[in-house]
Amino acid sequence: MSLDVNKIRQDFPILTQTVYGKPLAYFDNGATTQKPQVVIDCTNQIHTELNSNIHRGVHYLSEQMTELYEGARRKVQEFINAEHSQEIIFTSGTTGSINAVAFSFGELYVRPGDEIIVSGMEHHSNIIPWQMMCDRKGAKLRVIPFTDEGELMLDEYKKLLSNKTRLVAVNQASNSLGTVNPIKEIIDLAHGVGAKVLIDGAQGVQHGGIDVQSLDCDFYAFSGHKIYGPTGIGVLYGKEKLLFDMPPYQGGGDMVECVSFEKTTYNSLPFKFEAGTSNFIGAIGLGAAIDYVKSVGIEDIAEYEQKLLNYATDKLLQIDGLRIYGTAKHKISVISFLVGDIHPYDMGMIMDKLGVAVRTGTHCTQPIMDRYEIEGTIRASMAFYNTFEEVDRLCEAVLKAKQMLE
Ligand code: PMP
Repeated sequence: MSLDVNKIRQDFPILTQTVYGKPLAYFDNGATTQKPQVVIDCTNQIHTELNSNIHRGVHYLSEQMTELYEGARRKVQEFINAEHSQEIIFTSGTTGSINAVAFSFGELYVRPGDEIIVSGMEHHSNIIPWQMMCDRKGAKLRVIPFTDEGELMLDEYKKLLSNKTRLVAVNQASNSLGTVNPIKEIIDLAHGVGAKVLIDGAQGVQHGGIDVQSLDCDFYAFSGHKIYGPTGIGVLYGKEKLLFDMPPYQGGGDMVECVSFEKTTYNSLPFKFEAGTSNFIGAIGLGAAIDYVKSVGIEDIAEYEQKLLNYATDKLLQIDGLRIYGTAKHKISVISFLVGDIHPYDMGMIMDKLGVAVRTGTHCTQPIMDRYEIEGTIRASMAFYNTFEEVDRLCEAVLKAKQMLE
């Protein structure tokens, strides 16, 4: 079934606006997605009618909020098919989730001489926390290289794996190259040497969903704002047994069972990992976003986005001098490109004046840019509310900018 995109666009009020007198064509969905009215209404309604801190009050509003918050946790659980709701930890985002694992897992399991494997196409969020952890624990970071097309070299990965490998952290899909990585194979190979695996799903979950049980990943991280939900909320999924053993990484209210100056005991899962007042309104908004995505249909979203990707790829490649970085066989709807010698920033600025919003620069993936010996790219990242006509406008804007700058 194909999506009724014109109808869908009516759900996103921001998309109806003009910028510099031109209709907005928003192609920066990899950085953040726009919010449907149901998510805006949900968070507005809470602020207007229900706001009260969770877990702590015996009064009506607090109980209502607690119920909604825990309901949101169950929605996430069901959406990613986790076995237990206590395997869902609310964090501030993908970055927060990865840092939590790097600290907490690192404290318990990583010893001097151990190794952590990441890929060469990770977002800085899935590199730096591991570097920090390696520094703290005397461990070593190993990197899976990738081909010119932007595909991970699995043979090299196999060579990196050993009984020293404690954890492998890779993305489900690259935010710069669009590559969809073979995460099932990566997970199975890591498990073969007894290592655990964290999947950075920041660019995966919104483009086709995820089933953490069938994948058998140990940790999965994603951000609410990239799946049409609010900012400042994210999810860390972890297998119950692992989370149970891991120490909390932050201390504060709500994560404790009993506190005294002599000894403090910690709360049960998932609260052990949610110190302080959590972003409960964000979590409930994320639940509303998940409901929305499900109502559209995650498979239909993925299918439509693939059509957009193919159309945009073919059309962009007709432009003389345009080179696409990331030509893997399996991609999400992300296209990184350069045209001739034109600086991406100059092109992005002109495209913006034509109402076409793209991102330029390194996209927080400097090692990828180093690999191709470039400073950065122009990135068009598409969502299911983008239209084929908008892709036409994207290509026209590239052509116009090229004429002006060459
Ligand atoms: N990983 C990937 C692949 C991403 O694309 C991003 C965001 N661009 C992140 C991690 C970090 O997400 P956040 O800033 O929402 O924590």
